[in-house]
This record gives sequence, structure tokens and C-alpha cells, in this order.
Amino acid sequence: MNLVIGVTGGIGSGKTTATDRFQQLGITVVDADQAARVVVEPGQPALGAIAAHFGTGILQADGSLDRAALRHLVFSDPEHRQKLEQLTHPQINEEIRRQLGNSTSAYTVLSSPLLLETNQGKLCDEVILIDAPESAQLARAMARDHNDKAQIQRIMAAQMPRRDRRARADHLVDNSGSIEQLLLAIDKLHAQFLKRCAAF
Ligand code: ADP
Repeated sequence: MNLVIGVTGGIGSGKTTATDRFQQLGITVVDADQAARVVVEPGQPALGAIAAHFGTGILQADGSLDRAALRHLVFSDPEHRQKLEQLTHPQINEEIRRQLGNSTSAYTVLSSPLLLETNQGKLCDEVILIDAPESAQLARAMARDHNDKAQIQRIMAAQMPRRDRRARADHLVDNSGSIEQLLLAIDKLHAQFLKRCAAF
């Protein structure tokens, strides 16, 4: 497999803006959130395992996943959440590996909000953290999602604290400035990675 660069960050940090830039530069971006959706589509093994464990009450009439019902179930009980993760994480990793294996770009980006929290980080050679002050995360996520402040704050509180993320990343991209500055930082990293690939 070629060089895999992980990109992570908290909600509103600028992760999507950064990975969109990599894509514009011709780099394949594998999205862990998208892989997580694929494995619970009808006919996929993870959906069968979820229904076998939690009951068919988490399915809609057409056999697809009732996300709201499942969310309700796992938010109310940490053990349920753990079980759901046990059932889905291996399949998500497998789907990510499959997509990474299909990439033909010079190197590949794996975008995941849970890169450092799960063993998805092990799929990466290096990890970039898109880092912004919490006040900026909050303001930007609120403007983007039209969500209320409390909702975004709840999500931020459930995510890994900023200082822990910063301690674990190989490359820190400061996104406290303008979008143009963020794009420039990504362009610089891209040039660095291309050089590394050429030296392989
Ligand atoms: P994430 O994917 O990490 O949740 P996004 O890349 O979607 O974050 O960024 C959140 C919002 O903030 C988006 O609307 C994006 O356009 C905006 N944004 C990102 N970086 C900046 C920046 N440096 N200055 C102002 N707005 C930004």
C-alpha cells in the first residue's frame, strides 16, 4: 500500500476544508464516516449483526437501519454503545482498507474524526491534526450546521480533548487564521508528501 496520511480534528476544526483541498490536488480521500455508512447498508454483514443483537426494532419497514432508534438506544446506555462499536468497527476498518487499497493517487488521505480514538490511526503512516481554538470550532460549526450552541458543545465535550489530540499528531496544522492560510498549509504538506513518495 502507498503512503497513507490521516487527517483528523474536532467538529468545526476545518477537517473537511483541508481534505477537500487534498482532493483538489488529485489525492484520493477515503472518508471513515462514509465507510461507516456503507457497512450498515442493507445486505452488509454489520447490519445483520446489529439487528441480531439489538432486535429488529432498529430496522425500518424496508429493512434499512433506523438510525434514530439506534442512536436513542446507544446514547442511553454506554454498554450498548460499546457493543455497537464491537459489531461495526472491524467492518468499518475492512471497508477503509478496501478503499485505501483501491487508491491510485501518489499517496492517500484517510479522513476520520475518530482517527486517534480508534485503531484507524494504525492504518496511517502519519497523522495531521487540523487544530483550531475551541471558540473558533464552536462559532464555525454553529454557522455551518445551524445547530444550537448547546448541541455543538455536547459534541465537543464527547470528543477527545484538544490537548490530547495535539500530543498524538505528527503534523499540527493551525487553523486559527483564514481559510487561505489553511489551504496554504495543506499545499505545503502536499509538496512534502509528494517528495517523500518520489524518494520511495
Ligand atoms: P470539520 O469538517 O472539521 O467539522 P469544516 O471544514 O466543515 O470542519 O469547517 C467548519 C466550517 O468552518 C465550514 O463552514 C468552513 O468553511 C469554515 N472554516 C474552516 N476553516 C475556516 C477558517 N480558517 N476561517 C473561517 N472559516 C473556516
